[in-house]
Amino acid sequence: MKRISILGATGSIGQSTIDLVARAPEDFKVVALTGGRNVKRLAADCIALGAEVAVTAHDDLLPDLRAALEGTGIEAAAGVQALIEAARRPADWVMSAIVGAAGLAPGLAVLEEGTTLALANKESLVTAGPLLLETARRTGARILPVDSEHSAIFQALVGEDKTAVSRVIITASGGAFRDWPLDRLAKATVAEASSHPNWDMGQRITIDSASMFNKALEMIEAREFFDFAPDQIEVLIHPQSVVHALVGFCDGGLMAHVGPPDMRHAIGYALNWPARRALPVATLDLAAVGRLEFHTPDLMRYPALRLAREVMTRRGVSGAIFNAAKERALDHFIAGHIVFTDMQSVVEEVLDALCDAPEARNAGLTLDVVARMDHLARMRADQVVSARKT
Ligand code: NDP
Repeated sequence: MKRISILGATGSIGQSTIDLVARAPEDFKVVALTGGRNVKRLAADCIALGAEVAVTAHDDLLPDLRAALEGTGIEAAAGVQALIEAARRPADWVMSAIVGAAGLAPGLAVLEEGTTLALANKESLVTAGPLLLETARRTGARILPVDSEHSAIFQALVGEDKTAVSRVIITASGGAFRDWPLDRLAKATVAEASSHPNWDMGQRITIDSASMFNKALEMIEAREFFDFAPDQIEVLIHPQSVVHALVGFCDGGLMAHVGPPDMRHAIGYALNWPARRALPVATLDLAAVGRLEFHTPDLMRYPALRLAREVMTRRGVSGAIFNAAKERALDHFIAGHIVFTDMQSVVEEVLDALCDAPEARNAGLTLDVVARMDHLARMRADQVVSARKT
């Protein structure tokens, strides 16, 4: 029986993971489930799965969590430190599905314990890839990618010699504005940016798909996780979203990973790895899909891809700066302070201002440094936005 924990259990990835775990209760013992504000869901899932401990990130919600778990014998805890302690509980496999930079410290704690980390939280590798990988190397922990593109690359590499890889191609649907005239993008509303043509995801990641900041994060993630050079990582627009990634080899062959757009495939692959087990995902009917199209992305439409190349080349703390500036620019877009196309220029301005600052150039990559650069980048993004308003 595999002992597992799910960090970010109440979110989209967390709930899909629970769906798979709940279908095979004889295979899994649930140690810890963590969540944020949705303590009702957290408590219900802890009770249904017989978890040992439930943790909310928010101290003020501890009384509610305790009340919901009363009489069950399930421990309740709250706060950032409690999240890290939950991540450290002895387990065989931990899902990292907290959203945003808040997922980094708990994920790192899992690796410090030498435990297998199924990594959905893309911000972890973007902000602190070398730190995570070095920790995993030191403790012998394994990182299994859960982002569908990275799971696809990981699967295509099974049994292959990595030195024979010439390139990887990450696909992108193109998001909500793929076919919009460029001059209309500045007028795009939050509601329009929040609707994805193929995947059903949370609002923030859906808007990040429309701007391609999500793909930019994935390029950086691929660079860190697989250690490919920036010019080996390509992006193609693939509107059908059934080919998740392709790996090209020195002999000219391309291995494509093809599957329905359902995150339970990538989650299930990581959950059952190294075995493959049947999963409750639809069988892909390729004849019904009919055609598979691929297009080169237009960098005028998707400038985030250009910024990602800069970050992949710079490395160090630039990933933390990029991610924090992007998160803050997105906050400002959602709040109506800037238009859709301003998000990339805000991020670019923050990158330009901070990447060459002395504290960035001389900084080693530790949790404290990442947190500091994250803080500085958010502040700078706020300044850039307020300067534009005045
Ligand atoms: P959701 O927003 O749906 O869920 C996020 C989870 O994190 C929830 O459990 C939420 O709790 C919790 N949470 C939010 N803020 C904090 C915090 N400050 N501290 C601790 N926990 C917190 O996100 P997704 O499931 O969509 O995504 C999770 C991660 O996986 C992201 O990094 C995303 O980029 C990545 N990813 C997602 C994919 C998808 O299809 N959704 C695909 C590939 C990667 P609560 O809801 O209770 O407040």
